[in-house]
Amino acid sequence: MTTLQRPPTGTRPGVRPGVVGRAGLYAVLLANAAVVAVFFVQAGFASNALIVLGRLTGLYGALLMAFQLLLVARLPWFDRRIGMDRLTLLHRWTGFSVLWLLLAHAVFITFGYARSSALDPVNQLVDLAETTEGVLRAIVALAVIIVVGAVSARWARRRLAYETWHFIHLYTYVAVVLAFTHQVAAGTTFTSSSVAKTYWSAVWGGALAAVFAGRLVLPLWRNLRHRFRVTAVVPENDDVVSVYVTGRDLGRLPARAGQFFLWRFLTKDRWWQANPFSLSAAPDGRTLRLTAKRAGDGSAALRHLKVGTRVFAEGPYGAFTTLHRTRPDAVLIAGGVGVTPVRALLEELHGHAVVIYRVATDQDAVLHGELRELVLAKGAELHLVTGPPVPDRLAPGELARLVPDITGRDVYLCGPPPMMNAVLGSLRELGVPKPQVHFERFSLAG
Ligand SMILES: Cc1cc2nc3c(=O)[nH]c(=O)nc-3n(C[C@H](O)[C@H](O)[C@H](O)COP(=O)(O)OP(=O)(O)OC[C@H]3O[C@@H](n4cnc5c(N)ncnc54)[C@H](O)[C@@H]3O)c2cc1C
Repeated sequence: MTTLQRPPTGTRPGVRPGVVGRAGLYAVLLANAAVVAVFFVQAGFASNALIVLGRLTGLYGALLMAFQLLLVARLPWFDRRIGMDRLTLLHRWTGFSVLWLLLAHAVFITFGYARSSALDPVNQLVDLAETTEGVLRAIVALAVIIVVGAVSARWARRRLAYETWHFIHLYTYVAVVLAFTHQVAAGTTFTSSSVAKTYWSAVWGGALAAVFAGRLVLPLWRNLRHRFRVTAVVPENDDVVSVYVTGRDLGRLPARAGQFFLWRFLTKDRWWQANPFSLSAAPDGRTLRLTAKRAGDGSAALRHLKVGTRVFAEGPYGAFTTLHRTRPDAVLIAGGVGVTPVRALLEELHGHAVVIYRVATDQDAVLHGELRELVLAKGAELHLVTGPPVPDRLAPGELARLVPDITGRDVYLCGPPPMMNAVLGSLRELGVPKPQVHFERFSLAG
């Protein structure tokens, strides 16, 4: 074992970037929730408590819907600090809250109006749809949201191809437009105040502009600027391949080791499919490299890419970077193809690093030669742990044996879900403080 002599660098004093990012996100939400409350009170209360509740749930359901857009806008400031995986997870749970709030809105309003008329709830709903502007649009919007919610439930997600689920999910934008026009046409808060209406338009305009900028304008601009192309395709073993991509002016692409892109290779048969793959080497201003294991048709097809193929790459995304370091020294733990961002991070890390690479057999240890060279060059340490995929191979005792001072280090972890869960459990047992633990899951939508 050798140790790096360089003085520790790379840690940042002050508030952690993740905390800043989350504080920013919740500040936006809470500030708008407060403004909505003011406009709601200003509009006056209905005499019927069910209608009051119906209006409140409708307002906050819609506000959360706008917040949902911000969560998936892929704005670099939030993404670098919070990470796309956590943002999409938050989006997922907020999405279910939106669904329940809007269902509650429909039920409260229908029963509230039914109470003051002689109609039963079903006929009341039909009556509202026929006589009140925007209600029919709201019913259609709610139906769309229910379908999107149903296909996003875990059992449905597992059965649907990612692209099918994503396509259905895009209908949410139709629901957004229908819900917004319903609110400004029928919502008492907005019909009674032009200031409230202007504010609400600004909220929705801002949320849609964020999505437009983050998901369309920025990727288009970056791809026009860099014009990415495949320069080499190198098999690492029977299942894993590395793809080298170059482009114009790559030094100006703000990518960091540990981040990933959504890669769309513009071949005749696969241009419609974009897959997330991490950079498997730190970007050097000339080349980007991804290393992909065969999981389905998309990743299997990478092996047959031709040199010169045009690439549309969205990103860089992700918070699995040295921006989040809290300690001078680090432990990097990789399982299987989770080695890709770990290999890139090792290049960029300062301070002493211990790399633990967990694979079933030596043959599975892709990029092992590169890791060895880097470790030698950086005075770091490398442990290759082989054997069948049982969780206790990285049990607390084993981790403490390999890295006795693990509680004083940052831990970067990426690997298959069971291995990651086991290691996260071990780290908890060993008492590694949570802010020192950074991980990337190779799944975005939970
Ligand atoms: C942040 C991140 C980084 C990743 N980095 C690597 C890496 O460096 N090397 C590697 O081998 N694998 C990586 N993966 C996993 C890789 O993205 C999937 O194995 C690949 O997309 C599978 O696509 P497929 O068409 O071959 O298989 P499919 O059968 O089409 O997909 C298999 C599963 O992959 C996931 N998936 C497919 N497309 C997408 C998408 N556009 N967005 C989100 N999830 C999707 C879905 O969960 C899907 O069910 C990463 C995943 C994520 C989320």
